[in-house]
Amino acid sequence: LTPRLRGFGTTVFAEMSALAAEHGAINLGQGFPDSDGPTVVKEAAVAAIRAGHNQYPPGPGIPELRAAIAEHQRRFYGIELDPGSEVLVTTGATEAVAAGILAFTGPGDEVIALEPFYDSYAACVAMSGATLVPLTLRPPHFTADEATLRACVTPRTRLILLNSPHNPTGVVLSPAELRGIAEVAVEHDLIVLADEVYEHLVYDGTHIPISTLPGMRDRTVTVSSAAKTFALTGWKIGWATGPADLVGAVRTAKQYLTFVSGAPFQPAIAAALRLEDGYYTGLRQDLRRRRDILADGLTSVGFEVYRPAGTYFVTADVRPLGFEDGYAFCRRLPEWCGVAAVPNAVFYADPREGRALVRFAFCKRPDVLREAVRRLASMS
Ligand code: PMP
Ligand code: GLN
Repeated sequence: LTPRLRGFGTTVFAEMSALAAEHGAINLGQGFPDSDGPTVVKEAAVAAIRAGHNQYPPGPGIPELRAAIAEHQRRFYGIELDPGSEVLVTTGATEAVAAGILAFTGPGDEVIALEPFYDSYAACVAMSGATLVPLTLRPPHFTADEATLRACVTPRTRLILLNSPHNPTGVVLSPAELRGIAEVAVEHDLIVLADEVYEHLVYDGTHIPISTLPGMRDRTVTVSSAAKTFALTGWKIGWATGPADLVGAVRTAKQYLTFVSGAPFQPAIAAALRLEDGYYTGLRQDLRRRRDILADGLTSVGFEVYRPAGTYFVTADVRPLGFEDGYAFCRRLPEWCGVAAVPNAVFYADPREGRALVRFAFCKRPDVLREAVRRLASMS
């Protein structure tokens, strides 16, 4: 393994999912829903396979999906995009983030990322040869403070890697935080890569794409995907949107990573994005209820819970239960009581940060969440 990738051995999700399987545990570690997305969307993919959408689709994505992505951005945020030049379909948000990092950064560049960060960010920054500079969000409010951001900027800073709603804390950046970030980006002429995969999973407050702030349209590449919004994490259809020059650069990298993305899933996701508003409000209501079951349940068990405003994750502190090390706690939890979680330490450049924090996912059926809480209550 090249030195750049040392330390990125196995993802924590694979490690904890394997432990969950070994002990027959309820897997609240890796975030994936236990119920699939809408039947009409699944049927659309089956129909697309039958209709012969089985060979390489166009590199940037089929026109129908690019049009649907642009329509979705207009419908929810008033963002105008040219589907021909400002929308790129990718193999999940993961590829959009990877291609963005590879397109914009290289050795000598610095990338500022909100920390804790989704684990692929650090690995992709390492692959590009750039350096990751963490902007650490700290409990209890995990705020992205402008003065701290300013202290991270150097003449080498090239990119700010944002994620809101934020995995793993569940924080939704406030208008004031977004304004502060936008001001710094404009002042220092930085590109922003905004990972908004949880855009529709917001329970308190509102998701505001940073690309809609003054001066941001021309410097922001926004990333999202079908995985969370339509509970189809295995389809790996994502997208990058923004100004033609930046999206064109991401496309250059994407061409040599995967070339194209899953043909029969593309018309199906185009149909999904056009689902009526009731789908999106139903998704939010449903997940809000599940958030409440898990957050209240973890509180009753004795964790210190940071109630998330968005995403499908709850971050909790294990210290009130008498533990210090979240990683050790997560390694033993499946065997102890038949529940799996992931340690937040893996989302930090310095694992001592977030050492006592663990993350539970609530994209599971309410009865499964209640059973998980029951099992956790039996731990002590
Ligand atoms: N970004 C974040 C913040 C995520 O939590 C996830 C989901 N694991 C992804 C990107 C990846 O999305 P996809 O499955 O569409 O590649
Ligand atoms: N995004 C999901 C999570 O954070 C799944 C990640 C993965 O399996 N790579 O849990």
